[in-house]
Amino acid sequence: MTMQQKIEKLKHEKNAVILAHYYQTGDIIDIADMVGDSYGLSKQAKETDADIIVFCGVRFMAESAKILSPDKKVLLPAIDAGCPMADMVTPRDIRRLRQEYPDAAVVCYVNSTSEVKAESDVCVTSSNAVKVVASLKEKRIVFVPDQNLARYVANRLPGKEIIPFSGYCIVHHRVGADDVDAARAAVPGALLLVHPECTGEVIEKADFVGSTAQIIDFATRSDHKTFIIGTEMGILHVLQKQNPEKQFYLLTTKLLCANMKKTKLADVLCALEYEQHEITVDQEIMDKARLSLENMLKA
Ligand code: SF4
Repeated sequence: MTMQQKIEKLKHEKNAVILAHYYQTGDIIDIADMVGDSYGLSKQAKETDADIIVFCGVRFMAESAKILSPDKKVLLPAIDAGCPMADMVTPRDIRRLRQEYPDAAVVCYVNSTSEVKAESDVCVTSSNAVKVVASLKEKRIVFVPDQNLARYVANRLPGKEIIPFSGYCIVHHRVGADDVDAARAAVPGALLLVHPECTGEVIEKADFVGSTAQIIDFATRSDHKTFIIGTEMGILHVLQKQNPEKQFYLLTTKLLCANMKKTKLADVLCALEYEQHEITVDQEIMDKARLSLENMLKA
């Protein structure tokens, strides 16, 4: 029996579901029941009737799934898969910012720890950040942890005063305007689609800015045939699979998230077989963080 067949068998025996982020490797995406970005996967984690969720992604995503589905067993196959950006802001930072800006709403990007979500008013993802922030009654918004997503939202909502935190995604933040110029010279005529975690100088040069799901949607609907993709390289597998007649080029090889590549098929098999590594979140933190996530889902 192949590893894929063993995974399939255990999944049915245990009424488990495999969720995978677009940035996972192709072999993981191919065995997943649901593939998506943070927003799509949060919703699916809440709606599934499986007993076990195997989350192929990084820790904050598995924690969000646990918070939204507290009665389910949530497993993270690669226990050391974390997100450096999520660790850039702490609950203490949020409390300090609340004192400094008492009239502001605190918005946290879903790429954050459960403790930070618990201290925030509402979560956002890159898919819905503009819509959620626009819906808030407060004019002033403290936005953590991603400075790039904060600036992207601020540029689209001139009526809001966005106070950005200093965090950033170590993968998207290292791409610069020179990388864009080199890619455009290498693939003339291609459309450049980038993620809002990119820096301002990259976003300014893009033809389209959106979350991973929005980039896939844009490329799939477009009549254009050639695209340069400015987000983590894992997305190319899905783009190419859904659009075999189109050509996709990665903006730069810098767009590799080592944490997203930690999950291997063998880890998924072990997770299902031994029901490891189970994600737990302190009950009080979980209840408070759920409010922030649910405020996002109903915005
Ligand atoms: S791509 Fe960036 S934000 Fe996403 S998990 Fe990796 S480091 Fe974190």
